[in-house]
Amino acid sequence: MMGILTGEEGDPVALENVSARGRVILVCEHASRLLPKALGTLGLSDEALASHIAWDPGALAVSRLLAEKLDATLVFQRFSRLVYDCNRPPESPAAMPEKSEVFEVPGNAALDEAARNARTDALYRPFRDRLGALVKGRIREGRAPVIVTVHSFTPVYFGKPRAVEIGILHDADARLADAMLAAAGPAYRTLRNEPYGPEDGVTHTLKEHGLSNGVPNVMIEVRNDLIQDEAGQRVVADYLAGLLIESLPAVQ
Ligand SMILES: [Zn+2]
Repeated sequence: MMGILTGEEGDPVALENVSARGRVILVCEHASRLLPKALGTLGLSDEALASHIAWDPGALAVSRLLAEKLDATLVFQRFSRLVYDCNRPPESPAAMPEKSEVFEVPGNAALDEAARNARTDALYRPFRDRLGALVKGRIREGRAPVIVTVHSFTPVYFGKPRAVEIGILHDADARLADAMLAAAGPAYRTLRNEPYGPEDGVTHTLKEHGLSNGVPNVMIEVRNDLIQDEAGQRVVADYLAGLLIESLPAVQ
């Protein structure tokens, strides 16, 4: 299989607010439900392609508001996680899932090595390399960077409602998560490592770019019903920006 993206589909990695002066580097791996034209619909219905399996609804909007409030650079993937989930390493079956929650993904069934490599080269490597270069550059400049990844999750998963509203997730480095959880007020039901945790394989970006560089890091999961419109996105972004601003001095 040849390259997946045509020239006119552009760079798979988007960087915004590159000249920001703040410490935070925002990352949104699941920002988009866009599919490369070469892959069609992956055999999915419009309903499935609009759902949380294709992207994290609201996450990019919240990330952009946070970028503004925190004077932070934002890095996001412009294509759907169904093609390549940039929060998974290439060897993980979840990087190109054959099934996502209740949906089979026909276009991901029995991919051969060439097809997997083509997706990895088109979407994952540029994302990992650009983010990695940004983090290392900030370290060299002595800017004490902090990595914050922003996600959203579905309120009902496998038919079960989820009570958690905001998850603060971490892997082996809990410094930033601890500070944020200590600062979290009663506005939202904010919990540690919910609705996922490191055991679910969701901390790849944190490990690859945070732990490996000694850079403090956290993954934020917002229940997507709270951020389905601009009003909700603003309220949640205000809350998260407050938590982060209060917490950053604790992670020098
Ligand atoms: Zn996500």
